[in-house]
Amino acid sequence: MENNQEKKQTVLSLIQPTGTPTLGNYLGALKNWKNMSDGYDCFFGVADLHSITVRPNPADLRRRTTEMYALLLALGLDPHKNTVFVQSHVPAHAQLAWILDCYTQFGEASRMTQFKDKSEKHPDNVNVGLFAYPVLMAADILLYQTDFVPIGIDQKQHLEITRNIADRFNGLYGNTFKLPEPFIGKSGAKIMSLQEPNKKMSKSDTNPKAFISVLDDDNTIMKKIKSAVTDSEARVYRKDGKDGVNNLMGIYSCCTGKTDEEIEKEFDGKGYGDFKNAVGEAVCDELRPLRDEYNRLISDKAYLAECMKEGAEKASYTAERTLKKAMKKVGFLQ
Ligand code: ATP
Ligand code: MG
Repeated sequence: MENNQEKKQTVLSLIQPTGTPTLGNYLGALKNWKNMSDGYDCFFGVADLHSITVRPNPADLRRRTTEMYALLLALGLDPHKNTVFVQSHVPAHAQLAWILDCYTQFGEASRMTQFKDKSEKHPDNVNVGLFAYPVLMAADILLYQTDFVPIGIDQKQHLEITRNIADRFNGLYGNTFKLPEPFIGKSGAKIMSLQEPNKKMSKSDTNPKAFISVLDDDNTIMKKIKSAVTDSEARVYRKDGKDGVNNLMGIYSCCTGKTDEEIEKEFDGKGYGDFKNAVGEAVCDELRPLRDEYNRLISDKAYLAECMKEGAEKASYTAERTLKKAMKKVGFLQ
């Protein structure tokens, strides 16, 4: 039996500073981060290294990194108890990623659906970084000997390749990395686009009507929900093919805790107008406290910089230990 029984299990998750998080990011990932932040040893971060795969403007990247960091604190994460950091402040991520690149097969990386999707979206910039993205993600996770990774369902395949890479490395060199498990919340696992409800809601979508940003004001939220694509049936119930309504029901359920049956009953005999009003109000109530706290934090740049520094130091301490171990196993001179 291990002697470190009381040691909390480790949770890690990162989010890219590619835009303001959407309701999808919030319900699929961030809300779970907050829920797990007390019971686990948590590492949460801004994945700026990942975000250059789509070549952001440098000034935008700087601004968005700070904004995303402020938003993580606005969730209620405690920067002293949890480790909240910026990925590029911890060089071990890029270093381990290179090592793991050499233990990842071209074929298995080629099967990643996100690579296919994103290269179709950015056909003019299909770079090697985009292809190697899952390997950097594997490094992110494995560096912290992570037990659980709270993610939306779209990242499940990347978690599987992470486990395969870790398992292969461990098989060659003996136990080096812990094999992580995904933590996928039930209801928010995949929030869909409001305009094309068969595609996931994404913060890098070029149509702002397709997503709700967590910082949208009440008015904007109501408008976007009201113009969400539904169907011509005008009956609120869940069924395959009713993608728009299913999505709004999922959102409503996440924000209110109501089950599908309760929602169907509530809107029995009512049309989509009433339903959309209720969904919009529930979303506004859910996001308002986050927005208020964000607005307070974003004006305090000195405090944010101080927290980033503390986060980088704490993250580096753990990450370096794993990196050294992996380097030694591969045969690099100490
Ligand atoms: P991008 O389009 O730049 O990839 P994104 O919206 O997919 O942006 P990421 O930074 O890639 O955001 O992902 C952050 C987290 O949010 C991940 O855990 C991901 O699984 C989750 N997530 C992303 N989109 C959704 C969604 N529509 N529903 C639920 N979870 C989501
Ligand atoms: Mg994504």
